[in-house]
Amino acid sequence: MDNMNQIVNEAMKRIKNSDIEMLKIVKSEYLGKNGILTKILKSLLHYSIEDRKKIGFEANKAKTILESEIEKRKEGFKKALLVQKMQKEKLNFSPIFYFPFSKGSFHPIVQTMQDMILAFKSLGFSIAEGPEIETDWYNFEALNIPENHPAKDVQDTFYLDGTERLLRTHTSPGQIRVMEKLKPPLKVVVPGRVYRNEASDASHSSTFHQIEGLRVDKNVTLLDLKIILTKFIHIFFCYEPCIRFRPSHFQFTEPSAEVDVKCLFCKGSGCRVCKNLGWIEMLGCGIVHPNVLKSVNYDPELYSGYAFGIGVERIAMLKYGIDDIRLFYENDLRFLKQF
Ligand SMILES: [Zn+2]
Repeated sequence: MDNMNQIVNEAMKRIKNSDIEMLKIVKSEYLGKNGILTKILKSLLHYSIEDRKKIGFEANKAKTILESEIEKRKEGFKKALLVQKMQKEKLNFSPIFYFPFSKGSFHPIVQTMQDMILAFKSLGFSIAEGPEIETDWYNFEALNIPENHPAKDVQDTFYLDGTERLLRTHTSPGQIRVMEKLKPPLKVVVPGRVYRNEASDASHSSTFHQIEGLRVDKNVTLLDLKIILTKFIHIFFCYEPCIRFRPSHFQFTEPSAEVDVKCLFCKGSGCRVCKNLGWIEMLGCGIVHPNVLKSVNYDPELYSGYAFGIGVERIAMLKYGIDDIRLFYENDLRFLKQF
C-alpha cells in the first residue's frame, strides 16, 4: 500500500513537470499496456481474494487519479496553444502612424468650381449640365453665330472627324439646352469643361473650365447683371469689389461687356498679377441677344435676360495668386499638395 502511494506521488510530480511529449511517455509508463499500474492490476490473480480486493481498489483509485491528472494537464496545454494561436492571428487595430501615403485633396480647379457653384447657389441659381460633345446648332447657330463667323474657324474648334459634331468651345450651349426645356423665369448656372484648338501658353490652354450663368425673366436689365456679379465677387473673394464694365462684343449678347475687378492683390496701385494695370479682367457678359431668345421660341418682346461666362482657371489663378495656367494640368504633386 505504501508502495502504491509512492507510485501515485511520483507520477503526480512527473505529470506536473512534463511538457506535451513527456506527458505521453508518463501516461504510457503508468497506464499503458505495460505500464506500472496495468501490471499491478494484471498481477492481482496471484493474491488472495482479500488482498485482491484491497490492492485492486487502491490500484483502480490510483489509475483514476492519474488519468484525471493527465487529462487536466492535456487540457491546460490545449488552452495555452489556443491562446498562443489567437495572439499570433490577432488583428491589430491600433493606428499606424507610419502609413506612407498622405490624405488626398481636391484639385484646385475642382475646388474653385465647387466654391463658385456654392456662391451662385446662395444667390438663387440652380445648376444644370450639358454635353461636352455638341452640335453646330447648339454651339454656334442657336447662339447667333452665323455660318462664316471667325469663331467657327477650324483653328479654334475641334471638330469630330466625319460628323458635324464638335467639342464645345464654351458652356453657352448649356443656355440653349436649359431654355429649350424650361419656361421663364429661370436663373441657372452651367459649369463644365470646354475645348479650344489653340496652343497653350501661360494664360491659354486647349482645355479649360467655365461657368455659364443665365437669367431670363420679364424686365431683366443690365443693372440686375451688375448687382449679381458684384454680389458673386463679394461672396467668393470675401472682399467688397470695385468692378468696371468695359464694352465688348459677343454674338449672343447685346449689349456685351467684359468685367474687370480692381486688383485684389494691390487694391489698384499696380502689381505683377495685374501687370501694373490695377485692374484684372474677370469675365464676359451681356444682355441676351433677341435672336438667341427667338431660337428657343421665347418672345423677346416679353422676356429679357442676362448671361455671363466665367473662366474657372482665371478665378483660381486670382484666388491663389498663380501666374501660369499650365501648372493646373501638369499634375506636379509639389504644386497640388499646396491646396
Ligand atoms: Zn495688382
